[in-house]
Amino acid sequence: MSDKQHTLHSARRLGRLMSRYYLSSRYHSLWGPLLRRPLAWVTSGAPVEILRVFGIHPFYPENYGALCGARRASLALCQAAEARGYSQDLCSYARCHLGSLFSPEHAPLKKLPPPDLLVACNNICGTVLKWYEELARRLRVPLLFIDTPFIAGELEDRAVAYVQEQLRAMVEELSRLTGRRWDAARARRIMGLSNEAVLLWREIRYMGRHRPSPLNAPDLFIHMAPIVVLRGTPQAVHYYRLLLSEVRERVKKGIAAVPGERVRLLWDNIAIWYRLNRFFRFFAERGACFVTDTYTGGWDTEMAVREDPLESLAEAYAGIFLNRSLQFRVRQMVELIRDFAVDGFVMHSNRSCKPYSLVQEEIRRQVVEQTGIPGLVVEADQTDPRAFAEETVLNRAQAFLEALAL
Ligand code: SF4
Repeated sequence: MSDKQHTLHSARRLGRLMSRYYLSSRYHSLWGPLLRRPLAWVTSGAPVEILRVFGIHPFYPENYGALCGARRASLALCQAAEARGYSQDLCSYARCHLGSLFSPEHAPLKKLPPPDLLVACNNICGTVLKWYEELARRLRVPLLFIDTPFIAGELEDRAVAYVQEQLRAMVEELSRLTGRRWDAARARRIMGLSNEAVLLWREIRYMGRHRPSPLNAPDLFIHMAPIVVLRGTPQAVHYYRLLLSEVRERVKKGIAAVPGERVRLLWDNIAIWYRLNRFFRFFAERGACFVTDTYTGGWDTEMAVREDPLESLAEAYAGIFLNRSLQFRVRQMVELIRDFAVDGFVMHSNRSCKPYSLVQEEIRRQVVEQTGIPGLVVEADQTDPRAFAEETVLNRAQAFLEALAL
């Protein structure tokens, strides 16, 4: 990384935390069935707190897809999946993960610990349904699926009740599979840990409001891992407490993530993982810092305390931002732009993630209209480098920064 960006010291601690997480996935895969603590492969928007009540360890193929991208293994893995007939139009997280089953020698963690069950929820996209059905068929393990209705306006009671009913059925099924009983008090404790981590993560993200910002987008993308994979654990809470104190210290000392910060930007969509540092360094070298983004706030959902924990979970997981209307996303971006005093925004039109990307042009138009702030759309893919014409994108970024009078 260039001297134009400061790496957080917590990154080393994060590395150790994630290594332990992956090791415990192997442990659960080996001993879980004996100890009645099975391993589940789950989607990023699955209500993981329920699994934790039953002692089930969650492993996240999407997070693994991001790791494959960051380690530059994603091209070989996507190609391995395509050689088996999976379309190049399929999300590259799915192709990376499927490719790692066919060609583990190309994957960062080699052969993945096999799951005892699969849990998918379509609150992020419809792709996960077909992806997990395919896994269930190939691996011959049970698939539990939660269907969340798309929230076109406000979250209505009937939508919450519909999801809550499915969560109840899921609880019964998990009870049958693990031989353990549902414990509502334990669920509340786990949800309390989730909320604690969510609030800490929110506070960390909001440190970007300081000028200069102590955080740049790569910091947010790297340090979001625990809020995804360790939600509902004391480890996530502990980690974010330490990270928050480091970020506060930066603010106190006036340490900028981008020294000489001259322009403040917002990032929309998933990172370009295989170019994470190089891409954002291009901006940092021109004094531009991405002080906030829409993606790493995706797990910023605090759960209300209701008598039935399943109702709180239904509410929280149905309301995930990718399951919300275009107007909701416009509102969210406008608020971020105002809260973080942003000068411009960059939208990653991500070939893989259709629900995130297809409406971006209209969101851009409305956000520009409401804020007067300019927005640039760049085309790439989160983990498939073949969809990224780097030179063209950087030329456009250069012109965008010049238009911001840098
Ligand atoms: S299509 Fe988007 S939301 Fe769905 S798995 Fe891929 S990246 Fe995630």
